[in-house]
Parts: sequence; structure tokens; C-alpha cells
Amino acid sequence: MADCIFCGIVEGTIPSEKLYEDEHVVAFQDIHAQAPVHILVIPKKHIPSVQDVGEEDGFLIAHIFSVINRLAKEHGLSEKGFRIVNNCGDEGGQTVYHIHFHLLGGRTLTWPPG
Ligand code: AMP
Ligand code: ZN
Repeated sequence: MADCIFCGIVEGTIPSEKLYEDEHVVAFQDIHAQAPVHILVIPKKHIPSVQDVGEEDGFLIAHIFSVINRLAKEHGLSEKGFRIVNNCGDEGGQTVYHIHFHLLGGRTLTWPPG
């Protein structure tokens, strides 16, 4: 998708610190980390937001969660816990319209968020 930063990261035209990549998914360091661990996990497929997820994306979404679990283990978060965040739409705080899941951890995270 032209003009999508995260499609640029998938294609390698925009630099990123990639932590994981396979046929379907890329995970990379968030540039404005909000916690000691702050990783973004995205599908290579351009899906704008959660509202655009369909039944046909079932495998992809399950796969994203399995990659998140793998990254959480690798970053030592499995025992202490972590948070997965998806912001959807303007009031939901979404700024990049290519679906992504934030994996946050490494400190106590407050709830509810602001
Ligand atoms: P959201 O507000 O949920 O749409 O999250 C977008 C996230 O993408 C923010 O946490 C940004 O810090 C992060 N971000 C934006 N551009 C980049 C980039 N080029 N590389 C890594 N992270 C980015
Ligand atoms: Zn995109």
C-alpha cells in the first residue's frame, strides 16, 4: 500500500530494527518505546485496522498471537506478564493505519490506560 509506513518496513524501504520475520508477519522495535520491551507485531498484508479483519484472516491473527508469545518468551516476559495493545481508530489512539499489536512489558503497567 503506497504511503503506508509499515508496508515500507515490510518491504525494507523504511528502516526498522526487526526482531522477527516470517512469510506472514514482521516484528520490530517501536521507535518511541513506552516500556523496557515495546515491540510492534504486524502482518505483511496491509489490513488498515481491526475493523477490517475478516474470517479469512483467522489464521493470520492466530499466527500473530503465536509470534507474540514467542517474543514474550525471548524477552523474558512469560513469568512476570505483559500487555498486548491494539489501538483502533482516531479516538482509540491509532496513528498508523496498518494493523499492529503492541507487545509491552518489563515494568508494571498501570490500568486503566489514560
Ligand atoms: P498506534 O498509535 O497504535 O497507531 O501505534 C503506532 C506506533 O508506531 C507508535 O507507538 C509509534 O511509536 C510507532 N512507530 C511509528 N513509526 C515507526 C517506525 N518508523 N518504526 C517503528 N515504530 C514506529
Ligand atoms: Zn500497510
